[in-house]
Amino acid sequence: MKAAVVHAFDKPLVVEDVAKPTPGPGEVIVKMETSGICHTDIHAAHGDWPVKPKLPFIPGHEGIGIVESIGSQVTEVKEGDRVALPWLGYACGSCEYCVSGWETLCLKQLNTGYAINGSYGEYAKAFAKYVGKVPKGIDPKEAAPLTCAGVTTYKAVKMSGARSSDLVAIFGVGGLGHLALQYAKIAGATVAAVDLFDDKLKMAKELGADLTINASKQDPVKELQKLGGADAVVCTAVSPKSFEQGFYSLRRGGTLVFVGLPKENLIQIPIFQTVLGGIHIVGSIVGNRLDLAEVFELHAAGRTKVYLECRKLETINECFHEVETGKIPARLVIDYRK
Ligand SMILES: [Zn+2]
Ligand SMILES: [Zn+2]
Repeated sequence: MKAAVVHAFDKPLVVEDVAKPTPGPGEVIVKMETSGICHTDIHAAHGDWPVKPKLPFIPGHEGIGIVESIGSQVTEVKEGDRVALPWLGYACGSCEYCVSGWETLCLKQLNTGYAINGSYGEYAKAFAKYVGKVPKGIDPKEAAPLTCAGVTTYKAVKMSGARSSDLVAIFGVGGLGHLALQYAKIAGATVAAVDLFDDKLKMAKELGADLTINASKQDPVKELQKLGGADAVVCTAVSPKSFEQGFYSLRRGGTLVFVGLPKENLIQIPIFQTVLGGIHIVGSIVGNRLDLAEVFELHAAGRTKVYLECRKLETINECFHEVETGKIPARLVIDYRK
């Protein structure tokens, strides 16, 4: 089978023939239809984070496909089912995090396209317990970005505590942000979208943002404080500066949700204002299986829109370049179907 493989962190991916995987107990083989390209895949391929993937490996954790074969002891899915392969590829199922619905914090978790081979190949192996079921009526192209960008921002908006009377600011309107703002709208909040590019802000308007702020022309802190400050800010932009601006854009008692993972790992936040302002700072990593099911449910009901463009696997290195330079409207999706 054909796959895009990372052999070295400082080299482009190589699209080559690799052995098709076979399923062990509890595992399934999925014939991929589509795979979204998440910024995390680029960090994985470059070895940007403290814990690096073992080389060589196949990235990709927004995979959608059809179960082609199943191993022994698989009861969750059957051949022919359409499934999603998310970032959370495996968790232990019995630690205190897993049993309380926080499997995304499990210390034994294995991440798809990182610790285990992912969806940048014609076939992928996955643990049956951790694939998502894609409801009928959802286009596999749209299901792909929902599998990471969707579930990640859905959970982040949940963590923000957004309610109907709240002002919620979304910093960064890319693959994550364009979905985050829709979930904040679904929660009933008034939504401000903040980005550096007018075309992204135009997209945000189309998707229901109540107001937009171009941070290259206006000071988002000033604009949001004019309105009394945001009740919650969801930071999806991969720029430490935007996290700091997010902090200063909050009203007292507000919540700052960290979602994006900038390569520069540190920001400066004042203790005094955090204490006196009763500010909540929350880190939010992807979502659990129930969150993913809810994301698909909302999309099947026609309540969210996914902006995407399709690409072929062979162009993966060009795609990475497009994502890194911010040239794309929201999400790129590899389409394996002819
Ligand atoms: Zn992702
Ligand atoms: Zn666990």
